[in-house]
Amino acid sequence: MPSKSNKVLFRRDPSFARCPSCASINTLHRSRSRNWREAVIKNISLFKIYRCNKCGWRGYLSTLIITLLSVRNLIIYLLLAIGAGLIVTEVLKRFIR
Ligand SMILES: [Zn+2]
Repeated sequence: MPSKSNKVLFRRDPSFARCPSCASINTLHRSRSRNWREAVIKNISLFKIYRCNKCGWRGYLSTLIITLLSVRNLIIYLLLAIGAGLIVTEVLKRFIR
């Protein structure tokens, strides 16, 4: 019975997040990549480059957050999947011979 609270990943916009350096709100803005390495990271990962207007902090922030609850749910799902897989292989072993 999946419900909304079981969502593992939440999309968020770090523009509304606090600055990791000075903890100000609404001071973060998307920053252009300065070199090819930053451009690659920006394109292949969920991290985007942000800059703080107030203190000048610049760094990567994820656009996805994983909650502690969702990690627990993910582990439960994995255990269930592994358990179901083991049962299926056991059943198959008995019937296919
Ligand atoms: Zn700042």
